[in-house]
Amino acid sequence: MPDLGPQLRELDAQGLRRWRRSVEGPQGAFLDADGRRYLSFCSNDYLGLANHPAIAAAAKRGADEYGVGAGAAALVCGHTRAHEALEARLAEFVRLPRALYFSTGYMANLGIVPALVGRGGTVFSDALNHACLIDGARLSRADIRVYPHRDVGALARLLAESTSPAKLVMSDAVFSMDGELAPLPELAALCDRYDAWLLIDDAHGFGVLGEGGRGALAHFGLASPRIVYMGTLGKAAGVFGAFVAGTSELVEWLLQRARTYVFTTDSPPMLATALMASLELVEREAWRRERLGALIAQLRAGLTRLPWRLPGSPTPIQPLIVGDNQTAVTLMERLRARGIWVPAIRPPTVPEGTARLRISLSAAHAPPDVERLLEALAELAPAQRQHLEHR
Ligand SMILES: *Cc1c(COP(=O)(O)O)cnc(C)c1O
Repeated sequence: MPDLGPQLRELDAQGLRRWRRSVEGPQGAFLDADGRRYLSFCSNDYLGLANHPAIAAAAKRGADEYGVGAGAAALVCGHTRAHEALEARLAEFVRLPRALYFSTGYMANLGIVPALVGRGGTVFSDALNHACLIDGARLSRADIRVYPHRDVGALARLLAESTSPAKLVMSDAVFSMDGELAPLPELAALCDRYDAWLLIDDAHGFGVLGEGGRGALAHFGLASPRIVYMGTLGKAAGVFGAFVAGTSELVEWLLQRARTYVFTTDSPPMLATALMASLELVEREAWRRERLGALIAQLRAGLTRLPWRLPGSPTPIQPLIVGDNQTAVTLMERLRARGIWVPAIRPPTVPEGTARLRISLSAAHAPPDVERLLEALAELAPAQRQHLEHR
């Protein structure tokens, strides 16, 4: 029998073993787990919608009307009027001609890239892109050219050298572990110049960035027929799923050819009805984004006084880079002992030597919550500095 024990022990030795805790009850500023209540800075529920009563009620109405399971793939008989209405609403929401609802962002990216480029084509990928973009590129069998993080000049050189007949540039809009924005206007200009697709993964921008939470395109005022916009619905929108939007022709092609759309059971219709309610709130309740902005400013003002590196993130993702895996885990555990839950993120999720605490803020937080985190970090900071010096 194959023995995975040594490999698991190797994870332990490198401080890379991961574990889960079972949360009781809904997401929010506080989480109950292990019989204890934690102040949470872990979730991607940026607008505080994951437990919104109007969204839960819409899910229940959806279950009453459609039952739970979709029963089949969309192209067989799983596509309902609820899915159809959601897709129209999503397209209108991001101001693009058409949208297609996928079960998750991971599935969307796995399907999109191989549908647009294949063997002989080339994918140009930011070095810090999300795992599912990378996996989508690998599945496509296209050549993969990785450009240094946010390095527009390097990307321009790679595109200029390329003789590939089909090109696709892909980037997170908001980098998931750094919170920084991609230089999307520059990427779009290069794609127009070199006739490449631009796949924008807006998992962390949708709902948060731009007027009405319309996302990265609205934030930058971007429009191009080469843009393939992917937004996810399990983060700021507080539900589950993802969508791709673009020209009608692009979306029709993906409907025909994205294998992770064609060959999978459609999502429960109740998610579509829940998402309709969520989009209403995302659009209408601008106060959620305003509160988030104030919390981000408050947190950053406090974090800059601490000894760790803080990238220039304008988003609710605020990483405190501590470097060493064990240091990150120790900090996480000490915060937890104080009743604060912040995840330590280690390789391979982030590059070697950049283990970090990934603090994420939500409109569900209040200013005293952020103050409590800052006070705890300030208490832990000197001890940590000593720990590093004595290594
Ligand atoms: C979370 C995330 C995804 C995956 O979306 P899911 O709907 O959770 O599968 C894709 N891209 C990025 C950048 C993400 O952060």
